[in-house]
Amino acid sequence: MIYAESMRSIRTKESSMAKILIVGGVAGGATTAARLRRMDEGAEILLFERGRYISYANCGLPYFIGGVIENRDRLFVQTPEGFGRRFRIDIRTRSEVTRIDRQNKRVEVRNLESGETYTEGYDKLVLSPGAEPVKPPIPGIDLPGIFTVRNVPDTDRIKEHIHKSRPRHALIVGAGFIGLEMAENLHRLGLRVTIVEMAEQVMTPLDFEMAAEVHQHLKTKNVEFYLKEAVSAFEGRKGRIAAVLSGGKTLLVDLVILGIGVRPDAVLAREAGLEIGSRGGITVNGYLQSSDPDIYALGDAIEFPNPIIGRAMTVYLAGPANKQGRVVADNIARGNVRTYQGSIATAIAQVFDLTVASTGLSEKVLRAEGVPYLSSITHSASHAGYYPDAQPTSLKIVFSPKDGKLFGAQIVGFQGVDKRIDVIAALLKRGGTVYDLEEVEHAYAPPYSSAKDPVNIAGFVAENILQGLVKPVQWYDLEGRDAGGTLLLDVREPSEFEAGHIEGAVNIPLNSLRERLGDLPREGRIVVYCGVGLRAYVGCRILMQHGFGEVFNLSGGWKTWQYVSQEQSNEDIFEHDIIGKDDNIYQAQVED
Ligand code: FAD
Repeated sequence: MIYAESMRSIRTKESSMAKILIVGGVAGGATTAARLRRMDEGAEILLFERGRYISYANCGLPYFIGGVIENRDRLFVQTPEGFGRRFRIDIRTRSEVTRIDRQNKRVEVRNLESGETYTEGYDKLVLSPGAEPVKPPIPGIDLPGIFTVRNVPDTDRIKEHIHKSRPRHALIVGAGFIGLEMAENLHRLGLRVTIVEMAEQVMTPLDFEMAAEVHQHLKTKNVEFYLKEAVSAFEGRKGRIAAVLSGGKTLLVDLVILGIGVRPDAVLAREAGLEIGSRGGITVNGYLQSSDPDIYALGDAIEFPNPIIGRAMTVYLAGPANKQGRVVADNIARGNVRTYQGSIATAIAQVFDLTVASTGLSEKVLRAEGVPYLSSITHSASHAGYYPDAQPTSLKIVFSPKDGKLFGAQIVGFQGVDKRIDVIAALLKRGGTVYDLEEVEHAYAPPYSSAKDPVNIAGFVAENILQGLVKPVQWYDLEGRDAGGTLLLDVREPSEFEAGHIEGAVNIPLNSLRERLGDLPREGRIVVYCGVGLRAYVGCRILMQHGFGEVFNLSGGWKTWQYVSQEQSNEDIFEHDIIGKDDNIYQAQVED
């Protein structure tokens, strides 16, 4: 956010008598309201919320369902009464804004308790209506036992269903962040969990090889999942729900969570003739003003230029919505004094024992957008390897081949993922480069990191690539390779090679490489790999300095290769399971 000069005079300005209406009372709406009051004691502020609650923690809902958050009251950051009193805001819950009359600067409001409709005038209007879950029109989608998870009433309904119907098998449709959080929480409650995902991978912000690591982890948790499959119909069957998959299989479950995705809730704005962008979000300028200067919009409902590539994108995250609330409030109170800089969509999720995080743009987005990039995958330990319980951390960065400018990062690991993604996000947001990653000065003691943190390592490797010290190839470059033209050289120890290697590879351990250079062809490509890429880098340097021209290092090494070359889905694992009256699981052929 950029402060204009006039922010300096905030304290000296007088409060206004402006009337400000806010639509939506959760992340963006409530933040705007509170900041507005702190900026302007004189304004008349009304907040309309369709639901019964305001300012609640929707990010906590999956954990309340799973019982991690035990007390429902903990979800409510504020009550309408408490919030209204503290900030002297007229809070109207169960009140839906149904129409905006821009000509006369009025909104139409329906009281959802009484059914009464009335109008309310404004000087400035703020729209923070959020996003709505996608609910495709497939047959049976409204059957009992099928839920979305957007708000507290959704959560109450799911809790009640679990309590009353004692479901044993849950189906999650869609494997985004919320879908996976729900999978983990229902699994925690003891349900068998099946996930069906239409894409070839879970968690869209990740590139495939990083998601592949999540796939392998889900298998260890006995989560069944189908990739490249969609649900084509739901049917009620003997008190259960039959989900028919596009591939023809039918899953019999007791509870369905739809986590297919969300889209901006831009209905009001669209009907009022406000400009809607190509992503379906409300178009706003840097001050977060819509195409009508008296109407501001923020949160999940807007689209905004991505700071890295400048193209409009939607971001469905709480952090940006909250920060935008502050921008909107200051701009209303003080007259467009702040500009929003855009979000790089930094996100994190716990997926069972794993932490999965991303910031900026993935390789697949850059490819789709036609932006030239380089990428590198490093596998490091979460802290010093000699200190107990160090855990593997996979870190992928994507950067500009021209100047090393960071485009994005993804981290999958068990410890310290959050701090590392935040450091990278902070640099990325400021236009940082891979050279900045090398310079990151981190707090180090053996239980926390290594003298060279995984973030530094990622920077060192990227610098080597940019300087031409090593040329990377990615796992997908090896798929369908011309076996005659490419020599795959495995420089690990023979015992490692015997335990598993890439088909067609030749094993020359790194320590014997100098003596065996004569065994290698001078023509053609040599792709060198090892466990994670470090020994292969040394091997590449030896070969390059001995005049081998076309030498490449397999990014992420055998470790990444293993993740991507295993079966990705985990199908049919419950097919022959039946749960007996004694609650034990038996294997048998079950009749539908
Ligand atoms: P919301 O917070 O959704 O608020 C919009 C409100 O507007 C709604 O309450 C709606 O009822 C109301 N409304 C809409 N139209 C009208 C109308 N016409 N009249 C009156 N009221 C109206 N983000 C993260 O960063 N991290 C997480 O871990 C995370 N977890 C999540 C888990 C779940 C289950 C969900 C649902 C979301 C999660 N999010 C997470 C996303 C985050 O909650 C949203 O990005 C954020 O709440 C968006 O804020 P908003 O103000 O745009 O919309």
